[in-house]
Amino acid sequence: EEHGELRLFYQPQVDIGSGRVIGAEALLRWEHPRLGLLAPSRFLALSEESGLVVTLGEWVLRTACAQAAAADTPATPALAVSVNISARQFALPDLPQRIAEILKQTGLAPPRLEIEITEGIAMQDIARSIGVLTELKQLGVMIALDDFGTGYSSLSYLKRFPLDKLKIDQSFVRGLPADENDAAITRAVIALGQSLKLKVIAEGVETAAQLELLRKQGCDEYQGDYFSKPVPPHEF
Ligand code: C2E
Ligand code: MG
Ligand code: MG
Repeated sequence: EEHGELRLFYQPQVDIGSGRVIGAEALLRWEHPRLGLLAPSRFLALSEESGLVVTLGEWVLRTACAQAAAADTPATPALAVSVNISARQFALPDLPQRIAEILKQTGLAPPRLEIEITEGIAMQDIARSIGVLTELKQLGVMIALDDFGTGYSSLSYLKRFPLDKLKIDQSFVRGLPADENDAAITRAVIALGQSLKLKVIAEGVETAAQLELLRKQGCDEYQGDYFSKPVPPHEF
């Protein structure tokens, strides 16, 4: 951060029914002077061990909110921005206050910030998660459950989380439309989301055929290289 080498890339999120871009997921990159542009898999686990991930996470939240607020033009009205929260960050006792502070400082309306928590993090300490997510919800921000289907969700607790959205993990989208098991899983998650009154977004959509099946299955939104890879803010 001190060296100004962190970047946020943005991947558009698209409403399947209308084809409109409705938001973007902020994805962290490290522009290393020698190694070039590094994806989070190259440095995030290390920073999680050292606790640096909390500082990084704070920078990501602040930058994403500021850039979303600054991007308001007649051409790009009120897009939402999704920010990934790490396990360490989620464990901070004052996370909701920190987020409230950042929203105030950047002037971003709370419903335009979507917090992404992985299923794995949310299920670690369910009672606590319900408390933290409820506090976040009271701020007015949106909450999405990331990588859904990869951990083992307790469905009885899922309904007690104040969620807005389920994100179908890329590992289930990859095999579409041919793989019947993957197709059964995406159909089931979409049905589950609908009955819990949650939006469902599919991640990692790479082909027209994948999008077509998801549309037939009633999926609400998608993101993936088929529409756009993550891009720098000016390109977005
Ligand atoms: P994620 O939150 O599930 O993000 C989706 C990942 O899938 C991103 O990888 C994105 O670039 C990639 N992706 C999107 N569409 C496609 C596609 O069509 N094909 C393929 N092959 N990949 C696609 P990325 O950017 O490398 O990030 C990996 C993970 O690192 C993220 O998974 C998230 O868990 C974590 N991460 C990224 N940025 C942050 C951050 O700011 N904070 C925290 N705590 N974690 C982050
Ligand atoms: Mg995510
Ligand atoms: Mg994911």
